[in-house]
Amino acid sequence: MTPGGGQYRDEKKRRVGRRVGRRGRAVSRLNGAEGGTRVGGLMTTRQKPENRIWNPACECMPRPALEALQLERLQAIVKVAWEKVGYYRAKMEAAGVRPEDIRALVDAALLPFTTKDDLRACFPYQAFATPLEDVVRIHASSGTTGQATVVGYTRQDLDTWSELMARLHTAAGMTRSDIVQIAFGYGFFTGGIGHHYGVEKVGAAVLPVSSGKSERQIQIMKDYGSTVLICTPSYGMYLAELIEATGSRPDIKLRLGLFGGEAWTDAMRQALERGLGVFATDNYGLSEVLGPGVSCECVEQHGMHLAEDHFLPELIDPATGRVVTAAAGGGELVLTTLTKQGIPVIRYRTRDLCTFYEGDCPCGRTGRRMSKVSARSDDMLIIRGVNVYPQQIEEALLSVEGVTPNYQIVASRKGALDDLEVLVEVHESLFFDEMTKQQSIKQAIERRIEVAVGLHVNVRLVEPGSTPRSEGKAVRVIDRRPRS
Ligand SMILES: [Zn+2]
Repeated sequence: MTPGGGQYRDEKKRRVGRRVGRRGRAVSRLNGAEGGTRVGGLMTTRQKPENRIWNPACECMPRPALEALQLERLQAIVKVAWEKVGYYRAKMEAAGVRPEDIRALVDAALLPFTTKDDLRACFPYQAFATPLEDVVRIHASSGTTGQATVVGYTRQDLDTWSELMARLHTAAGMTRSDIVQIAFGYGFFTGGIGHHYGVEKVGAAVLPVSSGKSERQIQIMKDYGSTVLICTPSYGMYLAELIEATGSRPDIKLRLGLFGGEAWTDAMRQALERGLGVFATDNYGLSEVLGPGVSCECVEQHGMHLAEDHFLPELIDPATGRVVTAAAGGGELVLTTLTKQGIPVIRYRTRDLCTFYEGDCPCGRTGRRMSKVSARSDDMLIIRGVNVYPQQIEEALLSVEGVTPNYQIVASRKGALDDLEVLVEVHESLFFDEMTKQQSIKQAIERRIEVAVGLHVNVRLVEPGSTPRSEGKAVRVIDRRPRS
C-alpha cells in the first residue's frame, strides 16, 4: 500500500521511545517462550484462528472458470480504457495494440505498462473512465515524493473494495465477535477507511481510532477490549514496546494483528506475535489500483492469496519488462484491475518484488499466492556496486539474539567510496553490558549481514529507543550520499 499513514516523528515521540527502551529489558524475559506471550499473568500460546472463507464461490473458484472470467473481464476493461481514457488510447496506439488483439490472458503482455509517473501526469481527473457525477469517493497518495496520484471510486467500486476487505479480514481470522482497532490513518490515505468498511461488512465492531496518539491507543485497547489491531508492522512494534513499558500487558486482549502498508519479514512477524500476543498476518494493496485488499494471507501464513477475480497479476523482470514465470524465481509485480470502473488501471508497475508460490493452499482458496514483498525496487540501495535491500538487513539482524526490530540504515560517501552503516537497537541489558559482549554481538550482526548481502557493513549498537519511531511507515533508510 502506498505510504501515507503519516510518516513523521518528533522530539516528543523520540522521548517516549527512549522511555520505552529503558524499561524494554523485560521484553525478552516475558516473552522467552517461542510463540507464547504472557497475558493477564498467564502464559498463553498464540492461537491459530479457524480457517473461514468469506466468499467460497469466488475465493475457491476452480482455476479454469477463474481464468475464463479473468479473460472476459480483461477484454472488457481494455475496451473501456480504449474508449473512455485518452491517455490509455494514446499509449495503446503507440504500442500498436488494439482491444481486439486481446484473445487470451497471455495477450496482456502486449499492453503497455502504466507507471506511477503516468498516473501523476493524469492529475487530477484525466485517468477517470467515468464522469465525475458517477464518482462517489476520491482518495489520493500522500504526494510527499511528488505529485499525488488520485483514485476515484464509483459506488460499485466501493462495494467491490468492501467485499475484498471482508475476504481479507475473514482470511486473517476475524469474525463478527471481534472488536477491531484501526490505527491506520483515515483521510485521503486508503488504509484507514479501506479497512473500516471491510470490518463493518464482516460485522465486527470497528474502533475508528486512526493513527497516532500512541498512549491513547493503548488506553483504548484496554477500555474497549480490542481483540484485533490493524496498522503498519513498524507501528505495531512501537505499540508493543509501549504496552510493555506502561505495564499494560495484563489488560490487553488482542488476538489478531493485521499488518500492511510496509514490506516486512517473517522475523518481524515473530517479534510482533510475541510483543502483542497476536496471530499476525500480512496483507497487500496499493492505492493506485485500489488500496488494501489486493492480496492477503490466510491462517496458513504462507503467501498472500491474490483476489484474481478482480486483478490480473503478472511478474516481470524489472530490467527488461518481460514476463517471467513463477519458476524463474520472482520479479516485479504488475497488476491490471479487472473490474474497476472509476479508474481502470492497465498493467501497473508496482515496483514491489515478490514470487508466486506453486501448489494448492490447505485453506481451499484457489487465488494464487504471492510471497511477502521481499523489497520495493525503489528501496534498493546500490552500495559499491552491490544491490542492497533493507529487508535483507532486517532478516539478518533479527537472527541475532538480543537485537530488537528497531534499526536504521545510513548510506553515506567517504571520499569516493560508498559507506553503509546500520544502527541497531539492542535490549537494554545488552547495551549496558561489558564491551567484549557488545563487540561480539556487533561482529555477529556484521557477519550475518555480510553473508546476506555480500558486503561488509559497519554496525553500531545503539541504546533502546534511540532510532526514530513512526506512527505510519517506518523510515528505515537514510541516504546521505550526494546526488549525482
Ligand atoms: Zn490459503
